[in-house]
Amino acid sequence: MNVTGSLIGMYHICKRELWLHVNHIRMEHNSELVAQGKQLHEQAYPQRAERYREITLDGSKIDFYDPYDKVIHEIKKSDKFEHSHIAQVQFYLYLLRKNGVEGATGLIEYPKLRQTERVQLEEADVPMVESWIRDIERIVESEQCPGRIEKSKCRSCSYFDFCWIEEE
Ligand code: SF4
Repeated sequence: MNVTGSLIGMYHICKRELWLHVNHIRMEHNSELVAQGKQLHEQAYPQRAERYREITLDGSKIDFYDPYDKVIHEIKKSDKFEHSHIAQVQFYLYLLRKNGVEGATGLIEYPKLRQTERVQLEEADVPMVESWIRDIERIVESEQCPGRIEKSKCRSCSYFDFCWIEEE
């Protein structure tokens, strides 16, 4: 199994979500969210398509990479900053570095907030990303589904009903 940017994002939100996802327990809601995300990309940045390339590195797809300025663009429909967004882009920067592209940076755009967040990956950050990858591999290989996180953080998760139905 390849560790992907999506898995890195899930790992930073909820390890249980990560485990359920890799074990192919899918909820309908998921596909709706993916469709919404795609629509947002198309609506927010239709004119940018030409500058960017979709690239795949070690099985991970980066949707918007500007090879001229070496910038990864990630667009989030969220109305708040999340550490998981930064971690995901740091992982992409790690993949670029691993594949010989030095000095790339990331830019996360939040159309709803009308704000951007710059992301970098220093040499000293590399062991941190590698520890995420190792931990994800450990979780994925485990037969044990991790426990739930705080319910207040679960509202937008597609597994909400799955995890909390008996308490609703
Ligand atoms: S509902 Fe909450 S505990 Fe369950 S997978 Fe989603 S984020 Fe994790």
